Amino acid sequence: MRCPACGHDEDRVLDTRIQKQGEIIRRRRECLKCRNRFTTQESLVLNYPTVQKKDGTQETFMKTKIANGIQMACQKRPVPMTQIDFLVEKISQWVLEYPQKNISSQTIGQVVMDELKNVDDVAYVRFASVYRTFKDINEFVETLHGQPVSKTLNIKQSIEKVFENARTETETVPSIQSAQVERSSPPDSLPN
Ligand SMILES: [Zn+2]
Repeated sequence: MRCPACGHDEDRVLDTRIQKQGEIIRRRRECLKCRNRFTTQESLVLNYPTVQKKDGTQETFMKTKIANGIQMACQKRPVPMTQIDFLVEKISQWVLEYPQKNISSQTIGQVVMDELKNVDDVAYVRFASVYRTFKDINEFVETLHGQPVSKTLNIKQSIEKVFENARTETETVPSIQSAQVERSSPPDSLPN
């Protein structure tokens, strides 16, 4: 590794540290010419498929966007951070193993929804109803982040306002279900 101080390309390794369960290896090095010490970092190159957005543009897959979307949907819900992290890892791994070079942002959004369904009903409904009104997960996250901060409305309130519709939808679900139950109930005159 070329020394950042003098440009010499011979060094010796003083120390090697493994981080993130072997995902990152850091090495402390010393230049053999000028004795300058510096650190290098080695990590696996992950080849995620390119994300194809609904508007036709492409972008690099980013774990943080998935994490942001899930975190927002799980706000004030009894979902521990460890479970959110696990979900993000699981979905990212799935994307990594996707057999094609491109993956649509809708496909990713659908997978997030499917996973949230098994974790928390409210988080699922929030994500599903909010997400479906946007073009894709990025727009969803960007919209929540980019709410104009007026004097009366801060970002947190804006997010809650967006989620209000989701809550309303949640509340209407039981009434639909009970109506179906009434319809499917047996007729009054049962054969004896
Ligand atoms: Zn040097």
